Amino acid sequence: MTTPDGLPPLRDVVKAHDLMPRRALGQNFLFDLNLTSRIARAGGRLDGETIVEVGPGPGGLTRALLFEGAARVIAVERDERCLPALAEIAARWPGQLDVVHGDALAVDIAALLRGQPARIVANLPYNVGTALLTSWLTATPWPPWFSSLTLMFQREVAERIVADETDPGHYGRLGVLCGWRAEASILFDVAASAFVPPPKVTSSVVHLKPRSTPEPCDLAELERVTQAAFGQRRKMLRQSLKGLGLDVQALFAATGILETARAENVPVSGFVALANAAAALRRA
Ligand code: SAM
Repeated sequence: MTTPDGLPPLRDVVKAHDLMPRRALGQNFLFDLNLTSRIARAGGRLDGETIVEVGPGPGGLTRALLFEGAARVIAVERDERCLPALAEIAARWPGQLDVVHGDALAVDIAALLRGQPARIVANLPYNVGTALLTSWLTATPWPPWFSSLTLMFQREVAERIVADETDPGHYGRLGVLCGWRAEASILFDVAASAFVPPPKVTSSVVHLKPRSTPEPCDLAELERVTQAAFGQRRKMLRQSLKGLGLDVQALFAATGILETARAENVPVSGFVALANAAAALRRA
């Protein structure tokens, strides 16, 4: 069978390198190069771009990123079994693919880039996907080192990422963080049957564009406020915010937010106002 880049089909690559998928590493591989090309292109044109990919695995998305025109791909992979397969891709695209063997939660990707602008495109391992997204969106300095994120998540997680108070069933701490620092949207779904092995649920590709000037806010305080509020999401804020150890009536007076409101009805801007008011009270 021929492939667009002349490398062997992914099914053969996995067989040749004995890459039996491991659940502990969130390994659900994509073999369809048309689909990986669609994901690669989903965040915009790739010509001349530097792309950071987390979890290249046998390289389906990596190959698509290079074939679709990325100038350079930095791919961070934890599973050393995948390195020989990735070396074959690097040989097909000399000087354009840098493979970093390590845990993406620990690797300092910004340092590898040395100030070069980059985008993140990844079919994330489901077990660390939310932790990675949170680490990227809580980056300092801000605006961050990446200009966009195009990421695959389980559909349920994707819905939580894009949710605001108009979708109280999915709105929570993740939605507040994403809404504060980025514009997030779901681009399209990917059926479970597209993966090897197929996961139990549908996946979605999400696109996030960092806001260059999000409303100023103390991040640690925002995390404290959303943790308290959504930790008891059914309770009114006058009850759920008690754990902050602050004069909660003063918080409501400073922000105009009703003490009878529940977390899931407060917009992102309301949480930013509460966090700023909490920070001011703590300073006073
Ligand atoms: N990109 C490939 C594809 O689309 O077929 C594989 C995606 S698979 C869902 C996730 C990949 O992330 C696996 O290759 C896995 O080994 C890797 N991985 C898991 N945890 C990781 C971590 N902490 N840091 C870097 N890579 C990780």
